[in-house]
Amino acid sequence: MQQNPIIDFDVIDKDGPQEYGGTVTIARADVDREEIADVAPVEITARAEKGNLPGEYLIDGKASFTADLNCARCVDPYPFANASEFHVRFRPRPQGFGEENEEVEITNEDELDVEYYTERAVPLKDLALEQVQLAIPMKPLCDEKCLGLCPACGSNRNREACRCEMPAGDERWGALKGIREELAKKRES
Ligand SMILES: [Zn+2]
Ligand SMILES: [Zn+2]
Repeated sequence: MQQNPIIDFDVIDKDGPQEYGGTVTIARADVDREEIADVAPVEITARAEKGNLPGEYLIDGKASFTADLNCARCVDPYPFANASEFHVRFRPRPQGFGEENEEVEITNEDELDVEYYTERAVPLKDLALEQVQLAIPMKPLCDEKCLGLCPACGSNRNREACRCEMPAGDERWGALKGIREELAKKRES
């Protein structure tokens, strides 16, 4: 297994379809999502071949990884695992698209999986990173029933029942108490 294989279109032109496999290390900063506490290396396999259009290449593959995500409600990290398949069509970037003009307007349903390339080599890492980005939920939850943090005292309600019983139907009380405690904390510090 190579560490970070590169899909080289020239090799495919010369030798036909190619298979790739590897374990790719992704940095948290690469994913750029605050919800990620830690991400393990991504296992990825891919097969690449020429497409029907001139300069087009088809890549099919599978990726799987595990990570620790921070719950959007209680902020605790929890284990996350994902396995996905991907199908991407790489086409030469049409003339007139500058590097700064990354947003290519997609008008055809059929072209959702098309990506435009300028370099004739695609690191497997780019594909792995894309799969991680797609897999991380917009709002990760440790559990659908996660109780989150108490708005008054900030304790994790999954672990402890705090004493901030709020009078039924009066949420303002809790908010006010929260503000008071914040102020008290600020005075202390
Ligand atoms: Zn949670
Ligand atoms: Zn509380």
